[in-house]
Amino acid sequence: MTAGSRATSPARAAGSAPARSGPPARRRLLVATRSRHKLAELRDLLHLARAELVDLDDVGIADEVEETGATFAANAAHKARSYARRSGLPTLADDSGLEVDALGGGPGVRTRRYAGEQATDADNNAKLLATLADLPPERRGARYRCVLALALPDRAGPRGGIPVTITRGTFEGRIGTAPRGSSGFGYDPIFEPALEPPGGATVGEWPPERKQAVSHRARAARRMAPILAREGF
Ligand code: IMP
Repeated sequence: MTAGSRATSPARAAGSAPARSGPPARRRLLVATRSRHKLAELRDLLHLARAELVDLDDVGIADEVEETGATFAANAAHKARSYARRSGLPTLADDSGLEVDALGGGPGVRTRRYAGEQATDADNNAKLLATLADLPPERRGARYRCVLALALPDRAGPRGGIPVTITRGTFEGRIGTAPRGSSGFGYDPIFEPALEPPGGATVGEWPPERKQAVSHRARAARRMAPILAREGF
């Protein structure tokens, strides 16, 4: 905006609005994570004009909410509600994971712990490759899923609880036969996006901005952005 257009804004012309110093206050939105990486990624994806995104450490919440739900949506909604209740702030939570066709949709909500409670990404990848060994490409189909849940603690839900709005995103692909690439995290070195041929590049070999354009998280975030904008963020 130019100095000229500011001088002729309706509020000034009417002479009724007090002069403002600095930009308008931003509304705080709690992102239910401790990962600076996830916070930065969501800030980038959501692109909100009027929100100040803060994380659990910023608001002094030290304890964790257990992820014991049977679905990604149940986990994301439970996390969003719990932290919204504790903080009093509008809260955005996510849950994500991998569904493999040959495992009947598993590991699903157990994705992070697939090879055991303390499993590393390398442990999980090795177990999945061994489990799918010898399966041809057409039986190695898989997808990442992400669910985002927004809880608004200053609203009453249908049964008096905190209402939650959910958006979803998926990223279709297949599980490769060996890890390749070091970009991304988790299962990315063994995940071949559907638009790659069998044996083609994995997400671990994609530049981060390519993943960011089509990932499950990006798709869920793009659907959540207008909902947040309508809520004044
Ligand atoms: P959570 O949403 O933090 O519970 O993560 C679930 C798990 O799913 C992660 O630990 C990863 O193993 C896997 N995962 C989710 N999103 C991605 C992704 O974009 N790339 C690779 N692995 C992912």
